[in-house]
Amino acid sequence: MSSVLIKDVVDARERISRAVNETPLIHSTTFSEWSGFEVFLKTENLQKTGSFKIRGASNKILSITPEEGRRGVVTGSSGNHGQAVAYIAAKCGYDATVVMPEGGSQAKAASIKGYGANLVYCGSASSERLAFAEKLRMERGSVFVHPYDDPFVIAGQGTIGLEIMEKLEDASVILAPTGGCGLISGIAIAVKEKNPAVKIFGVEPAGSNSTGLSFKNGRRTALDKIVTVADGIRTTIPGELTFPLVQKYVDGMIEVSDDEILYAQRMILERCKLLTEPTGAVALAAVLSGALAGFVKGGKAVVILSGGNVAMPQLGEYLIRSAANA
Ligand SMILES: *Cc1c(COP(=O)(O)O)cnc(C)c1O
Repeated sequence: MSSVLIKDVVDARERISRAVNETPLIHSTTFSEWSGFEVFLKTENLQKTGSFKIRGASNKILSITPEEGRRGVVTGSSGNHGQAVAYIAAKCGYDATVVMPEGGSQAKAASIKGYGANLVYCGSASSERLAFAEKLRMERGSVFVHPYDDPFVIAGQGTIGLEIMEKLEDASVILAPTGGCGLISGIAIAVKEKNPAVKIFGVEPAGSNSTGLSFKNGRRTALDKIVTVADGIRTTIPGELTFPLVQKYVDGMIEVSDDEILYAQRMILERCKLLTEPTGAVALAAVLSGALAGFVKGGKAVVILSGGNVAMPQLGEYLIRSAANA
């Protein structure tokens, strides 16, 4: 499997059906009135392990042989993918090792340990962690579960696209946050093959805009500095496998500020009673900031709320910071 086809996404849906939730697609009257779009929220913050990452991780880990599984699985992740790998590996009875960034989220680390995985700390850049995870893989013969640059992971994330199209086949636009781009490329494959008229936009923080920059340059372009509150998408460069899919299927990239992200996070909580982490509110920020209206004129906008893992004391800080700016 060199690239990913709609068939792979359909297979993924079957493979992971008992491991993941089909999350609700919720219409928001408030956000619709504010934005001029009919806004629908795809609530992956309510997904098992608190983010969509369980879809890709399950599709990968449920596709390996028991023989491979006995040598364990390993990954390098800033948190949500690590939790997903730890959870599904434990369900399968496989040993899991997760390489975490130094100074990463306490809540995420505690949850990974809670699922029974081994935690190893290394560096703060995603490239350092991936290299360290690769070394462990070589030493132990474990299966490496990449957070985005793997056909099975991409196909797993794409199952979100199938669920959206079943509920809302006449969606006008779908917005997803982008880090390594497994989420958006999987969704784009599933959706564009079903209905090419649906527009797909990626959203990223202005201080972590490697996908937008790469999109504009027509080639993968790395950032040397990342500053954003959205800790789930501090990625220096889009994936080798995912970026060509972004170029093929994605209609455009939108930037939002940290203040817009925290405002969106606060509004989701206040108005919809839904808890997201900052990264989980990035796509909604593009709607509420008015940025989307610069690209698309009205219609049904599906916003991916990609995750809800945030430590409560940190949530308090985010809410205070956002309210102070209001
Ligand atoms: C991983 C993650 C993303 C970005 O997904 P990619 O496949 O890396 O683009 C977005 N939101 C949350 C909450 C995540 O954990």
